[in-house]
Amino acid sequence: MAETRSTCPYCGVGCGVIIDSDGAQITGVRGDPQHPANFGRLCSKGSTLHLTAAAPVTLRQRLLHPLRRAERGQAPQRVGWNEALSEATDRFEDVIRRHGRDAVGFYLSGQLLTEDYYVFNKLAKGLIGTNNVDTNSRLCMSSAVAGYKATLGADAPPACYEDLAHARTLFIAGSNMAWAHPILMRRVEDAKRANPALRLIVVDPRRTETAALADLHLALLPGTDVALFHGLLHLMLWEGLTDNAYIAAHTQGFDALRERVREFTPRETARITGLREQDVVTAARWFAGLDGAPGAPRAPTLSLYCQGLNQSRNGTAKNAALVNLHLATGQIGQAGAGPFSLTGQPNAMGGREVGGLANLLSAHRDMANPEHRAEVARLWGVDDVPSRAGKTAVEMFEAAADGEIKALWIACTNPAQSLPDQATVRRALQQAEFVVVQEAFRDTATAAFADLLLPAASWGEKEGTVTNSERRISRVRAAVAAPGEARSDFAIATEFAQRLEGRLRPGKPPLFAYASPQAAWLEHRESTRGRDLDITGLSWDVLETAGPQQWPMPQGATQGRARLYEDGVFPTADGRARFADLAYEPVAEPRDGRFPFSLNTGRLRDQWHGMSRTGVLGRLFGHVPEPAVELHPQELARLNVAEGDLLHVTSRRGSILLPVAANEGVPLTQAFIPMHWGSEFVCGRSSRGEPLAGVNALTSPAFCPISKQPELKHAAVKLLKAELP
Ligand code: SF4
Repeated sequence: MAETRSTCPYCGVGCGVIIDSDGAQITGVRGDPQHPANFGRLCSKGSTLHLTAAAPVTLRQRLLHPLRRAERGQAPQRVGWNEALSEATDRFEDVIRRHGRDAVGFYLSGQLLTEDYYVFNKLAKGLIGTNNVDTNSRLCMSSAVAGYKATLGADAPPACYEDLAHARTLFIAGSNMAWAHPILMRRVEDAKRANPALRLIVVDPRRTETAALADLHLALLPGTDVALFHGLLHLMLWEGLTDNAYIAAHTQGFDALRERVREFTPRETARITGLREQDVVTAARWFAGLDGAPGAPRAPTLSLYCQGLNQSRNGTAKNAALVNLHLATGQIGQAGAGPFSLTGQPNAMGGREVGGLANLLSAHRDMANPEHRAEVARLWGVDDVPSRAGKTAVEMFEAAADGEIKALWIACTNPAQSLPDQATVRRALQQAEFVVVQEAFRDTATAAFADLLLPAASWGEKEGTVTNSERRISRVRAAVAAPGEARSDFAIATEFAQRLEGRLRPGKPPLFAYASPQAAWLEHRESTRGRDLDITGLSWDVLETAGPQQWPMPQGATQGRARLYEDGVFPTADGRARFADLAYEPVAEPRDGRFPFSLNTGRLRDQWHGMSRTGVLGRLFGHVPEPAVELHPQELARLNVAEGDLLHVTSRRGSILLPVAANEGVPLTQAFIPMHWGSEFVCGRSSRGEPLAGVNALTSPAFCPISKQPELKHAAVKLLKAELP
């Protein structure tokens, strides 16, 4: 029996786990009592990791060998790794030579480890010379990134989990953390027990399990968060609750924002958001923290936020408007205070750190900045890094559907289920000349479109690092060997890169001579020197002996930094934070007479993404056994349907058939559908009649013009009772 310390692969809390194994099989999993994210606790998903890992490979539908499809529509045939990677190299080289570098695209995942991401990013931008490398983190955190950069100057969450214990008010916006980040919610409950005066404000259209615990639930109309945040600032100004000394000493741009929020009176804010004026007033006073005894110091407010702000065509403005509130009240850079975005996926942060998105470069450098491009080219040993904008997630598949992108490499993600507007995504996968899918699982919706399927190792089978929501870097370790011929994502990416560089830059010094993931990590570490996320004081030995560490941890530091901006100096040219003067924009597709319901999508407590892991365990279906469209009971009566009746749910892009469930937490004129179920359970058609599956048959491809994150949280739909024969 062996014990292996690793990290849970399900969400951005980044809980430490101890894996028990008998050398061949994972036999158990426990929370790591020494890991500072969870101190030994695990949620329903984390605590069953060993059961999902130990389920028979046939049940888990593991991909065990490389498979090649000679012709579209035919069953794929087993091939060896050499043949598979030769084919991939030939086809990518051919497309690049015939159509140019931007005719290929890489679509990655927040499931990949930092080292995997690093190699893919360097392969696309450094070797091939295209910025067409993006990731499903675009669906998750890109608005948070853009919001931080617009205000604080860098993509760096300033707070830490420990701040939960110091806050007086928690402002939870667009996050059902009781289900999506359960162990963090346990820490909120701990904080409430230790400090009964702790107040929870929850901003969410639905009365979720998180909202049910709130002292003040602001059930705003979908997409109106910016109006609410501007309205709160208006109130703070009116009542003299802003921290004018902090604004004067540490920020710039407040005058323009003051003008912007002038129109957001309590009455106007209430009109736009659908909230009661008094609740807006109460929220502003609690947030500002000056409602205690006369002369008492300002009580700290910590904001926790996630997809409800991010997955929006107004996503950057939502994030920035919330950070504005922290700057205006000086609620940042001190214990218990600050804006704190919660990361959805386990390594969306690590992907951002290495610049694994179409608009970023290594170590938080900007692709649009010529000095940054030159620095990265020097670090990588290439002539240059391209300046042309790369395609982001939705754009990449739209470009493939239009024939602009000819070859796609999809690693560790399932865009044929998870991207919005599935009709376009599926046209893209059919239209592309060559599609590689690098996956642990055989039967994903995307695998059905692959010309080449490359079997990847999964959790418990690979080595590297991940970074969680509080900037903490943890090791991921292999406890057992991958099944069949599956290889680590790092090994697959590196060997493909080595083969392709033999074609594209023969005779030049090798770019990918990595003997191990640690070698790539050391290169990444060097790229952070002098940057806001400097980790030149960290090593894998330190991670081994001192445990997970938060960045930054520059050379000479003995531990990572828990909290940022305590000195009031921000990573901008003049050291001042910026107030972002961004407008409130309503949802892209308001409900109307034809499509009278607002559709919201989201997670369930016990399922993960497209259920490729959690779907093999019966016990995880005990909580919610099947997909449904959730409506307020009054809407069931109005539609003349009973629970379990089937409804056609139709948007402008497609239609799906689902049973209906009553939920008093879903407001009138709104509908909620969980994101997890795909083709097996939720079938439907596009508006052109093509077969489609899952809730993303309905969702809108509209995205935030700054972050390019799509508006998965809102689409206008209509509901019609299905007439059974
Ligand atoms: Fe895993 Fe997230 Fe649950 Fe922690 S909270 S055990 S990281 S799923």
